[in-house]
Amino acid sequence: MNDHAPNSWEARAEEYSLYGFTDLPSVRDRGTVVVTHGEGPYIVDTNGTRYLDSNSGLWNMVAGFDHTGLIEAAKAQYDRFPGYHAFFGRMSDQTVALSERLIEVSPFARGKVFYTNSGSEANDTMVKMLWFLNRATGRPQARKILTRKNAYHGVTAISASMTGKPYNEVFGLPLDGFIHLTCPHYWREGRDGESEAQFTARMAAELDEVIAREGADTIAGFFAEPVMGAGGVIPPSGGYFQAIQPILKKHGIPLISDEVICGFGRTGEVWGCETYGFMPDAIISSKALTAGYFPMGAVILGPDLTDRLQEAIDTIEEFPHGFTASGHPVGCAVALKAIDVVLEEGLLDMVRAGAPRMQAGLAEIARHPNIGELRGIGYMWALEAVKDRDGKVPFDGSLSVSERIANTCTDHGLICRPLGQSVVLCPPFTLTDAQMDEMIAKLDASLKQVF
Ligand code: PLP
Repeated sequence: MNDHAPNSWEARAEEYSLYGFTDLPSVRDRGTVVVTHGEGPYIVDTNGTRYLDSNSGLWNMVAGFDHTGLIEAAKAQYDRFPGYHAFFGRMSDQTVALSERLIEVSPFARGKVFYTNSGSEANDTMVKMLWFLNRATGRPQARKILTRKNAYHGVTAISASMTGKPYNEVFGLPLDGFIHLTCPHYWREGRDGESEAQFTARMAAELDEVIAREGADTIAGFFAEPVMGAGGVIPPSGGYFQAIQPILKKHGIPLISDEVICGFGRTGEVWGCETYGFMPDAIISSKALTAGYFPMGAVILGPDLTDRLQEAIDTIEEFPHGFTASGHPVGCAVALKAIDVVLEEGLLDMVRAGAPRMQAGLAEIARHPNIGELRGIGYMWALEAVKDRDGKVPFDGSLSVSERIANTCTDHGLICRPLGQSVVLCPPFTLTDAQMDEMIAKLDASLKQVF
């Protein structure tokens, strides 16, 4: 049991605050870490202990925790105009500028943007847009949403229904009409003797079958993360998007790229869809959109959905949806700066330059017999632990092996994320070579201690 002093920050945290998404036995044993500030890619707790955060907060703090340019951009906008919405025929100049910039950096020749406070709300908004435009244009039955098992799309009732994780059963989710296809993870889902190309063909055939079974005219859209993030960093099997996109196109089903994690550089390109060579109908963005310096999400519509939504809006002359802080001017000013920081001030180049070093370091660690798979791209990687490598047999026990590894890493001053049987590393893009080496060395030492 932990032994926080009465009235300490840690004891007060445990008395008054609720944790989401937390392995509570670990907290009961190890206690809470209360963070006071950050220094580059490090966070510092109330005892002055520094941890290298290879989780980038929650994938979002791509510029580290004390980026002067981002802090100044927020301060300057707070001085100019601290808050407003984007409704009733009014929006801030910063909102106007950001939408223009987002379309400029998007893969779309033209399009429109709608703002939310989070990635969940952006997915929720996208689904409501599809439902809205289908009803308004005489297709009210086109409501079903296709996603994949193990996908993560958020926590609102809609985005949690899109999420393909069993834990949502505790809420009685998914809602009806949310259909989860097989996770395109060749290493885990491939059958004995099945080549990767055959596996990808099977994924495409399954999609075809589901569309035939459900009826193409009942389906509103297909949502996919280019690389599944919270599912345990799962890049698609080879040729996956090239195989499924023609099927969706044939049936007129929009493909929505959930780029909440992949967007703005994590995969080594601006967008994950660029990395994997497909053109979505819309992009869902958040996290790195503001480098984590303001809570914000965005739905970025490509030309076709822009026109279809506009047509629907024109018929009832309103899109009755939005959040109080949609298009918040401080968020938009921060996002404008974050886009510059990533695209113009070298962070994307740092990912491209650093990715081979990260991959090589992790590949050394992955030689351990209890690592079944190393997978990832750019600055998002996972090591999956197995009891038996050949049989891909997972460890058992009440505390998952990945929790044990992550806890040991924390003891070594490294934050990394346990996800299922995997340990995930998704560091800030600003990592120096020395910090990268520190991350790898601490992970290596922790693994050797656990196995
Ligand atoms: N979509 C993806 C791919 C995500 O990884 C996440 C969060 O991790 C979300 C959506 C939900 O975003 P938020 O936590 O901002 O609601």
